[in-house]
Amino acid sequence: MSEITVSDLQRLLQTIAKRMLAERDDLCQLDGVIGDADHGIAMELGFAAAAKAAGELDPSATDPTGVLNTAAKAFLNAVGASSGPLYATAFMRAAAAVKGKASLGDQEMLDIFAALAKGIQDRGKAEVGEKTMVDAWAPAADACAQAGAEGRPLAECYDAALAAAEKGRDATREMVASKGRSARLGDRSLGHIDPGAASATIVISCLSDFVRR
Ligand code: ADP
Ligand code: MG
Repeated sequence: MSEITVSDLQRLLQTIAKRMLAERDDLCQLDGVIGDADHGIAMELGFAAAAKAAGELDPSATDPTGVLNTAAKAFLNAVGASSGPLYATAFMRAAAAVKGKASLGDQEMLDIFAALAKGIQDRGKAEVGEKTMVDAWAPAADACAQAGAEGRPLAECYDAALAAAEKGRDATREMVASKGRSARLGDRSLGHIDPGAASATIVISCLSDFVRR
């Protein structure tokens, strides 16, 4: 496929922001069961701010790293909930992963996926099985990297990531939370999908649509 440009990334952020607006109430509802019911608002505000700030950049005067760093800062400033620093770190790591590139090819898009997931894990220190967004991001990143190492086309790598994220999201239903706000519920968190894993899967589905375009 052709290289991904600054304008493509600006459009991608807008697409994710739109999706989060549409999913806001459902995400708040999930968070209402095992958290404080604000996750949909956090994700909507975060991606709206990221899309707006990135969209104001002049494509001829910036590069993908500039777009992703701007998105990181805007997301962090807009979101007071714990998802704020987690996604801000993800974007910052993605920015660093493609530093110096004017546009992004398949390898850079594989690097970006790995960097997003690693940023979230490094920042929140959650492991798989603790009922967080890491339960979607980590297996998705593994599946993406594995498909990449097998030399499969980028769209297939991102499809594999999405399938793994969906599976990971669904698996959070059977987990007891041990990180984040819902950890205080103990066993009462059982039987419910983690809102952060649900929103992560939405982000990843936007990414996979984006690379297939
Ligand atoms: P808050 O819990 O501050 O209200 P949000 O509602 O925006 O923040 O986000 C809640 C989600 O954040 C959880 O569903 C979980 O997926 C994720 N989360 C919480 N703590 C961590 C962590 N340490 N690492 C990764 N994800 C986390
Ligand atoms: Mg919350």
